[in-house]
Amino acid sequence: MKLTDLAVKEILETIPAIIILYGEEIVYVNRYALELTGYKEEEIIGKAIWDFCPIHCKDEIKERVLKRIKGQFFEETTEIVPFKKKNGDVIYLKSTCKTIEVNDKHYGLILAIDITTQVKLEEKLKQNINELSLIFRYSPDIIVKLNKDGIILFKSYAAKKLGYNPRDVIGKNIFDYIHPEDKEKFKNILNLSFKNRGKTYKVEYRVLKADKSWAWLEGNLVVPKEREEAFLVERDITDKKIAEENIFKLVYYDPLTNLPNKILFLENLKRLIEGVSGKVPVIVFKISNIDDFKAIYPEDLILNKIKNVLQKVFKNFIVGKTLTNEFLLAGITKNLRQFDVLLDRFNKKISEGLKISGSVIFPAFNMGISLYPKTSKDPQELLNQAFIAFYESVRKGKNQIVWYSEEVQDKFERNEKIIKLLPNSIKNKELKVFYQPIVSLKDRKIIGFETLIRWFSKELGYVPPGEFIPIAEETDFIKSITEFVIKSSIKDILKLDGEYFVSVNFSSKEFEDQNFINNILKYINKYNFPSKNFVVEITERTAMKNPDYTKEIIQELKRNNFKIAIDDFGTGYSNMNYLIEFDVDKVKIDKDFVVEIARSTKHLNVVKLIIEISHEINALSLAEGIETKEILDKLIQLNCDEGQGYLFSPPLPFDEIKNLIGDINERRKD
Ligand code: C2E
Ligand code: CA
Ligand code: CA
Repeated sequence: MKLTDLAVKEILETIPAIIILYGEEIVYVNRYALELTGYKEEEIIGKAIWDFCPIHCKDEIKERVLKRIKGQFFEETTEIVPFKKKNGDVIYLKSTCKTIEVNDKHYGLILAIDITTQVKLEEKLKQNINELSLIFRYSPDIIVKLNKDGIILFKSYAAKKLGYNPRDVIGKNIFDYIHPEDKEKFKNILNLSFKNRGKTYKVEYRVLKADKSWAWLEGNLVVPKEREEAFLVERDITDKKIAEENIFKLVYYDPLTNLPNKILFLENLKRLIEGVSGKVPVIVFKISNIDDFKAIYPEDLILNKIKNVLQKVFKNFIVGKTLTNEFLLAGITKNLRQFDVLLDRFNKKISEGLKISGSVIFPAFNMGISLYPKTSKDPQELLNQAFIAFYESVRKGKNQIVWYSEEVQDKFERNEKIIKLLPNSIKNKELKVFYQPIVSLKDRKIIGFETLIRWFSKELGYVPPGEFIPIAEETDFIKSITEFVIKSSIKDILKLDGEYFVSVNFSSKEFEDQNFINNILKYINKYNFPSKNFVVEITERTAMKNPDYTKEIIQELKRNNFKIAIDDFGTGYSNMNYLIEFDVDKVKIDKDFVVEIARSTKHLNVVKLIIEISHEINALSLAEGIETKEILDKLIQLNCDEGQGYLFSPPLPFDEIKNLIGDINERRKD
C-alpha cells in the first residue's frame, strides 16, 4: 500500500505491533508484529484477522471486526483479541483500532500489545490467590498487594523494572510514588475496589521510577472476597503511550507540517461553521510545480514555507494539509470583498516568489473554493466541493482560482464519467481514427494524412479529443490510444492506391518514455510500412520541456528513418533558436496564427518568419487551419510547402478518404 512510501513509515516501524487493514484484508504488518507472531509477511498479508484466531472464538471476532468495518470511522475501540502464533501458541493482543485516511481511502490501523501474561495471571487471580504466591514473585508483570490506605504489603520481583528492590518498598505508601495528577483517580478506584469486592477495576497511572522519571503503568485492581488487601497486576506501558501519541499524530496530523490532516480539519470545520452568521470560504490549495524545486530544496522546507505564508495572509483561518500536499483553509469573513482582498494579497505574495534558504522560488498553484452557506451548509460537502473546484482549476492550468458552482460540478461529473468509460472505448469499438488530408500547396495534391482520434461513446455521444485526451494522458490510457492509432492508420494507409505518409500525434507522456519508438517499430515491421512515410508529431511545448532529451530522441527517430514534425508551432513561446538545434523535418504552424493572416499583418509576418526559418533549417513548413481560398493564396505567396484545413477537407473516416483522393485529384485537373 501507498502508506509505506510516506514519511509515516518510520513511525510505523518503531512502534509496537501494527497491523493495517483495508476493508477486512490485512494490507500491512510492521516488523514488530511479524516477530511477535512468528509469521512471514506473505503469510499474513491478504488474510483477515480472524484467520488467526482460535476456532472457538473465530466467529465472534469476525463479527466484531466486520461490525467495525461497517461502523463509524472515527470511533476508536480497544479490545482483547486471542491470536494464534505460527507455533500454535495463543497470545492475547490488546488491540486499539483507529481509522486513518490515505489518498481518500480509509484504513483500519491496529496497534496491538501482547498482554498474554496479564490475562493468564488475572485468570488465576480469580481462582486462588494463596497457591500462586510463587508465580506472583516471579511474574513478568508487577504485582502489588496494598491495604486500604495504599500501604504496600508486597511487591513482586518485577518491580525491579522500575528500578526498585521489591523488599525496600514494603511498608511505603504507594501514593508517594504516584504522579500528582493521577493520585485522585487512583484513590477513587482503590476505594471502589474495597467497596465492590471481587470486581476488577482498570487503572492507568504514572509512577515515579527510581531514576526519577515517570513510567506509565496499566493494570487491574481487585480486592478478593473476604480479604483485606487489594491486588494490583500491572505493567509498564510507557512505550505504548508514546506509540499512541505517535499514532494520534498519524491519525490526525500531517507528518511534514504538523498541520491537522483532512480528518481533523473536517472536525475543525464542523466546529467553525456551527451557528456562524457570516460567510465561510473553504479553500483547497496546492503548489503545482513543487517537483521543480524538490531536487534543490527538501520538500518539507517548501511546504512549511507555504504554510507560513498561508497562515500569515489568512490570519484567522483554520488550516490543514492532506498527505497529497493539498492545503485546506476555511475562515469566517464578513463579506466577499474582504476575502478578495486576502486572495489578492496572497496572489501577490506568491507571484513575488518565496524566499527559501537565501534564494527565491516561483511557485505555481491551483486553488478551488466553496462557500458556506451559499454552495452548501454541510462541512463534508463544502470540502468535497472545494476539491471539485480545485480539480477544475488543475485542468485549467497554472495559477487558476476556481469557485465551486453547479457548472463546475457538471464538468466534474462528466470528467468522472469519461475516466470511467474511456478505458472500455477500444474494446467497445467506440474509438475511430479519422484522417485529415495534408496537401502539397504547389500542386494541391494530397501527399499524406494526419490521424485524429474520434470517440463516439455509446453513453456520452461524441466526445471531442480536446476533452478526453488530457484525461487519457493522466491515466496512461493515452498509450493504448496511440497504439490503436498507429496500428489502424498503418493498415489503412497501405490499402490506398499510391504512396502517402501518415502523421501521428504523440503526447508528452509517451514522448518521455523512450520505449515509444519500439512501439512504432513493432507495427512498422509487422505490416512492412516504409518508416520514411511515418511522421511523428510532437508539440512545441512537449519538445521544449527538456530540449536536451528532445534532441536525443529526434536523433534516435532519425536513425530509424522516421520523420519528425513540430506541432502547434508558435504557441509555446519558445526561442526560435531551439528550432535550429532540433533537427526536425517539418514545422506545423498553429492554426490560431494561420486563420488570422488574411486580416492581420502581424500574424502574416509571424507566419512568414516561421516559414523562412523552417527553410533555413531545411525543414518543410505546413500551415494548419486553412479555411479559405484567401488564406491559401497568401500561404502560397509566402512559399509555404504544405497545408491542411477545412478548405480541402475536415478529418474524415477512412472510407470517405478513399473517395476523396479521387475527388481532389479531379479538382486539381481543372
Ligand atoms: P492538433 O494536432 O493540432 O490537430 C488539429 C486540429 O485542428 C484537429 O482538431 C482538427 O480537426 C482541427 N482542424 C483541422 N482543420 C481545421 C481548420 O481548417 N480550422 C480549424 N479551426 N480547425 C481545423 P481535433 O481533431 O479536435 O483535435 C484536437 C487536438 O486533439 C489535436 O490538435 C491533438 O492535439 C489532439 N489529438 C487528436 N487526436 C489525437 C491522438 O490520436 N493522439 C494525441 N496524442 N492527440 C490527439
Ligand atoms: Ca497534430
Ligand atoms: Ca496542430
